[in-house]
Amino acid sequence: MPMDPEMQLKVYAHVQAVARQFLAWRGSLESLIVFIVYSMGEAAPPPDRLDNFLRRESTQTTLAGRYETALFRAADKTFRLICLATTTDPNTARKRLAHLPVSRSTQCAHCLIDEKGFANIDLVQELDVYKLPTGRYLHKCCQKPYARIRSLAERENSA
Ligand SMILES: [Zn+2]
Repeated sequence: MPMDPEMQLKVYAHVQAVARQFLAWRGSLESLIVFIVYSMGEAAPPPDRLDNFLRRESTQTTLAGRYETALFRAADKTFRLICLATTTDPNTARKRLAHLPVSRSTQCAHCLIDEKGFANIDLVQELDVYKLPTGRYLHKCCQKPYARIRSLAERENSA
């Protein structure tokens, strides 16, 4: 039996809340479900139904498109939950850009998750407006938010 639409909306909202709390999280889907169940309290559906729902591509597409939340299984077969919401403050944006990950070629410049040996599968090189690599690497889902941070910082600089 599919989850009813009202329950789906509740689950989306709680997954978003958990993503906002962690910003960038990696682990098993089972442990993520524990956080979601905790967040939902008595309204939570059974874990096996959450598991089924969260693994669906349509669920993950909706989370990314409408809830600024990326949920996906990475190459190492564990899950990532990444908050895609970005700052609206140009100063914060500039600080974010100035901060480079310790391991530039394996860590996502946006969410800072280190994909280690799977970086060549999970991350893509950031390209500048001339399509030249910037030396920073990003998850596919982190490209848009990172580009937003860049344009926000630039807008303020030219003002
Ligand atoms: Zn990322």
